Amino acid sequence: MTVISDAPARTFNVVTLGCSKNRVDSEGMEHLLTQRGLTAVPSTGDADAIVVNTCGFLGAARQESIDVISGLLAERREGQVLVAAGCLPALGDHHQELPAGVDYVLSTREWYRIGDIVQTLFGEELQPEVAGCEGMLTTFSRASVGPSAYVKIADGCDHNCAFCTIPSIKGRQQSKRPMHVLQEIIDLVAQGTKEIVLVAQDTIRYGADLGMKHGLPQLLESIVETVPNLPWVRMLYIYPSPLTLKMVDVLAQHDALLPYLDMPIQHADRDVLRAMNRPSNLDMTRRLIDHARATLAEPVMRTTLIVGYPGETEAQFLNLARFVEEQEFDHVGVFTYSAETGTKAAMLEDRIDPAEAEARRNHIMEIQQAISYRKNSALVGQILDVLIEGHGEAEDEAGNVEAITIGRARRHAPEVDGYVFLPGALPIGELMPLRIVEAGPYDLWAEAARSSSPGSRRPKPAVRARRRRLSPAARSREANRPERRGQAR
Ligand code: SF4
Repeated sequence: MTVISDAPARTFNVVTLGCSKNRVDSEGMEHLLTQRGLTAVPSTGDADAIVVNTCGFLGAARQESIDVISGLLAERREGQVLVAAGCLPALGDHHQELPAGVDYVLSTREWYRIGDIVQTLFGEELQPEVAGCEGMLTTFSRASVGPSAYVKIADGCDHNCAFCTIPSIKGRQQSKRPMHVLQEIIDLVAQGTKEIVLVAQDTIRYGADLGMKHGLPQLLESIVETVPNLPWVRMLYIYPSPLTLKMVDVLAQHDALLPYLDMPIQHADRDVLRAMNRPSNLDMTRRLIDHARATLAEPVMRTTLIVGYPGETEAQFLNLARFVEEQEFDHVGVFTYSAETGTKAAMLEDRIDPAEAEARRNHIMEIQQAISYRKNSALVGQILDVLIEGHGEAEDEAGNVEAITIGRARRHAPEVDGYVFLPGALPIGELMPLRIVEAGPYDLWAEAARSSSPGSRRPKPAVRARRRRLSPAARSREANRPERRGQAR
């Protein structure tokens, strides 16, 4: 690979905002910049080139992107260049909101051009195109890997949900070729990754644009066959579709394919779903859920919901509340509707008062907390496989601080579900059986499975969960939880 000139090595830092798909694009940009001879540095202050990979999904996310860029511009030192990339620049109307002084604005559909852009900004001669670069679905290897990694298998969306800006930002779905997905996973697993999380805007339709009828089940079979030493494969964002039936059948055949179904239904009233331009056949939705529960061993069900959609009546909201009670999902993300310029829903009248929307959200959350707590409590005494991901500190009310380990079980997707905590500092990246000793509505507390005195070293979990202090990495991961960021897809 050609390296740019013999000048002192330039440095870069990529700031990632938004969702897991954005994070994968950031990792791709890091790969491409490294190939051009730049060195990644952990702080923006030390970087010659700063790339801010923005989020444009909701107003709050756009404002955060603008604030971050403004802050970096205010601190910019001589010679430093700043590129605004990601979804915000792809939004025509909001493009103008970017602060003056940004050196280059790069749309999310063009992140793979970052090498050329940065070289040009430094006034350097452009190098030939990177071998294997296939536009926004370029395959790349990560500079550093952790126990879990997102792999984006497709980008864009062919749906047209009335509240969503994504199709206008990303365009139609384009799938990454299976051989490229596999190569990326092989590379990650060789570096120690234990969990692969497949993401896309519409994961279940993977491969449709490549002419594959059951692209996702085929891809899953290939992953299991090609990478037999990969212990966990998880998928997020399964749009409610009959295609799910076949996928669930494949999940049931392989232990490495986690029995975790993340199916965003958004609502459970037929008329609201129609207004949202979402699948409104609730019998089909129930059939998909029932099939997963009947087919998978220890299935875990997650969904996301939007309350306060324009015109949502009290009766329609109660239909949703009843559905949540009836279905007893394991994890639910609830969001209040946010009107996004350029969407069909933003033109609807009969807006719900924000306080009322918040009250509806709280009502669903209360229903779900009781369900989640009941389900988590049933796990106490069981031994679960836990992927160790980080360390933190817990402080009790007397001010005593001790080290804790932070992990996730098969039932926890990264960032959006709960954690498993236990005393001590176990090795990061290990996958180990732990005995669950205490449960809250979101998180679990555990101890080593071989311990003969359950709970003997355990201070009050409620205190610890409430007052825990996490390591910087874990803290930043928490701050970026999509639920906190108000994302719903
Ligand atoms: S909500 Fe999801 S499925 Fe609907 S248009 Fe947006 S990205 Fe596509």
